[in-house]
Amino acid sequence: MSGSLFVVGLGPGSPGALTPDAAAAVEAADALYGYGPYLARVPERPGQARHASDNREEGARAVAALRHAADGAHVALLSGGDPGVFAMAAAVCEQIESGVEAWRSLDITVVPGVTAMLAVAARVGAPLGHDFCAISLSDNLKPWDVVERRLDGAASGGFVIALYNPISRARPWQLGAALERLRRHLPASTPTIFGRAVGRADENVIVTSLGAADPTSADMATLIIVGSAFTRVIDRPGLMPLVYTPRSVAGGSS
Ligand code: SAH
Repeated sequence: MSGSLFVVGLGPGSPGALTPDAAAAVEAADALYGYGPYLARVPERPGQARHASDNREEGARAVAALRHAADGAHVALLSGGDPGVFAMAAAVCEQIESGVEAWRSLDITVVPGVTAMLAVAARVGAPLGHDFCAISLSDNLKPWDVVERRLDGAASGGFVIALYNPISRARPWQLGAALERLRRHLPASTPTIFGRAVGRADENVIVTSLGAADPTSADMATLIIVGSAFTRVIDRPGLMPLVYTPRSVAGGSS
């Protein structure tokens, strides 16, 4: 019997943002693997095994899922958002590249999901309406000076920047340092969005400016979008402001 591995993105949190393809892959699996809170989002099904693991054990989780699939099972490995954005799909590829030959013949399907920056952007309009990039502030897997170089390059290159993994108990100062770094390149008035737990019951979205952005208002469920010099805010009485980055830059076509 030949097994399969589906690496599935569950979206930001609301059931409506789970794609039908992702729901089908989860339903069809013999076994689910994932970080505990992601597993908790999908209903228990009779006969479907659940293997929860700690957030930091990505390599070990990928290996366990690959071994199980190689034994002939239909396995789904769950990620929040999109599995290819700072998540399990790359961890699976790393293990296949360095692992046993048999894993290269496995049937692997990556099922995309709505990543956090798209969910946060949609809440306020279209801040990612023109060129943008995504940077993880976690320095667990890369040195901090690489993060700084990328922040400098992104801000000076005129990209809107989505910051993933802004802060955690083990990484308390990185977001403050990153915002300071961006202030070297961008005016204090640059529109800045803090989107926390978007799509979940405790969602909170704040529109502020780079000058006023307070790193203590973020936690590990927060994604931050820092605008470019072209990003604009439209205030609306009694409503969330609209933030957008126009599709053409002043003085030229895009
Ligand atoms: N694969 C995920 C990202 C994993 S990294 C995705 O595509 O969204 C984890 C980071 O994603 C968090 O620290 C936070 O910055 C962001 N994030 C994940 N879900 C979020 C949500 N519902 N609201 C806001 N940010 C979220």
